Amino acid sequence: MKRLSVKELLQTAGHHETVEARGWVRTKRGNKQVNFIALNDGSTIHNIQVVAETERFPEEVLKRVTTGAALAVKGVLVESAGSGQAFEIQAREIVVLGEADPEKFPIQPKKHSLEFLRDNAHLRFRTNLFGAIFRVRHAMAFAIHDYFNAHGFYYIHTPLVTASDAEGAGEMFRVTTLDALHPPLTAEGEVDYKQDFFGRATNLTVSGQLEGELAAMALGKIYTFGPTFRAENSNTTRHLAEFWMIEPEVAFNDLHDNMELAEDFLKYLIRYALDHCMDDLLYLSQRLQEEEKEKKAEERSMELIEKLRFVLENPFEHLTYTEAIDVLKSSKPNKNGKFQYPIDRWGVDLQSEHERYLVEKHFKRPVILTDYPAAIKAFYMKQNPDGKSVAAMDVLFPQIGEIIGGSQREENLEKLLGRMNALGLPAESMSWYLDTRRFGTAVHSGFGLGFERLLLFVTGMGNIRDVIPFPRTPKNAEF
Ligand code: ATP
Ligand code: MG
Repeated sequence: MKRLSVKELLQTAGHHETVEARGWVRTKRGNKQVNFIALNDGSTIHNIQVVAETERFPEEVLKRVTTGAALAVKGVLVESAGSGQAFEIQAREIVVLGEADPEKFPIQPKKHSLEFLRDNAHLRFRTNLFGAIFRVRHAMAFAIHDYFNAHGFYYIHTPLVTASDAEGAGEMFRVTTLDALHPPLTAEGEVDYKQDFFGRATNLTVSGQLEGELAAMALGKIYTFGPTFRAENSNTTRHLAEFWMIEPEVAFNDLHDNMELAEDFLKYLIRYALDHCMDDLLYLSQRLQEEEKEKKAEERSMELIEKLRFVLENPFEHLTYTEAIDVLKSSKPNKNGKFQYPIDRWGVDLQSEHERYLVEKHFKRPVILTDYPAAIKAFYMKQNPDGKSVAAMDVLFPQIGEIIGGSQREENLEKLLGRMNALGLPAESMSWYLDTRRFGTAVHSGFGLGFERLLLFVTGMGNIRDVIPFPRTPKNAEF
């Protein structure tokens, strides 16, 4: 007898008379004569119902069938008389592989708060909600590789340990093997990183872009997809200290091509979710609607699947930072003092409240903002002829704010050096990067998509800690 997953059982039902299923008990209910056991093995959001007649099984066995216990069940797959499922297993043999003491097992068949489940992140996979989220997470990772492979991009593995700060924001985790209490010191009394493992100060990467550019300037179209680390002390629902980023980089693409790629890519991923994850999305949508009931009508957001379709069907709005500032300046919340950070002049950085206003209230669709002030963007961005803005682009999404940050890169060596000098960046140690501009330089562009921000959007979850298995945030690195 071949053991089948619950997903396979539900799909191939009818073709297998006697079957074996293994999984974990979600619930057990019933009466004196019969027990109904909902068994889930993670292959799908759906459970298979196991019907166990009390007279067939010793009380000893049935007593140990509690929520969370692992079972192996053999029986006959039949059409179900009850409502809620098409098929069920009439159990002939039940083996309790692993018990889950109901007094101690934290995940019980009731609604647990997301905070409680975060504290029990090692067990939250066992809930319908987190099963759905992590199946969608898998599907999106797969779709990302699928998209790039089909479009002629090469997957490049960029290093996690690096000596450079790609974003120049200085929010990095140090990597060292030096003794924390007694590090070797230089004559000037500073920590002597020459004696460290790599012979220099090193950090965990904040972006694979710089190395990605090197590859793109030979392979043409590349992407990275890996973990990135930022020691920013921002305890928000959109920031993690360890998150996954996808960074395509394309030789000969200008900013316009870059925007097209970003929109096509995002839409492909959303369509993929709708085509391949509908069972999980329906579950997530129902859950969200339950939550929304508690909100006031005007604060309720669009139903999840409707929202995903809406983004697919509408072209993204394009506008420059300068145009956005004009819209924001004369907006109601700005005039009524409703923004925490009022918009008073060209040059200010946009906060997520501003990004969300543009997307959710003003344009009511995703927005690509371009041509930001150079002063608030990274050194490598293409300098515009106006002398004050750069060819940057941020893609802004409803509920999230910034989901993608990207740009056309400065390919002119003199201009790039000028900017680095102005910012006090060490051109000597970045010589390897500058070589792309010294030898065969060309227009090129790329962007970074935060994988967990994408997942927030696709699953409708509100907190980034709930779309990564084990979140890393300030003061939290358990599990
Ligand atoms: P934000 O302004 O939201 O902090 P950023 O400008 O620092 O974003 P980039 O450096 O452009 O972001 O990084 C590219 C993408 O990576 C962002 O658009 C976002 O989707 C994602 N991202 C950035 N920082 C984080 C973080 N701390 N946690 C999760 N995702 C992040
Ligand atoms: Mg940031």
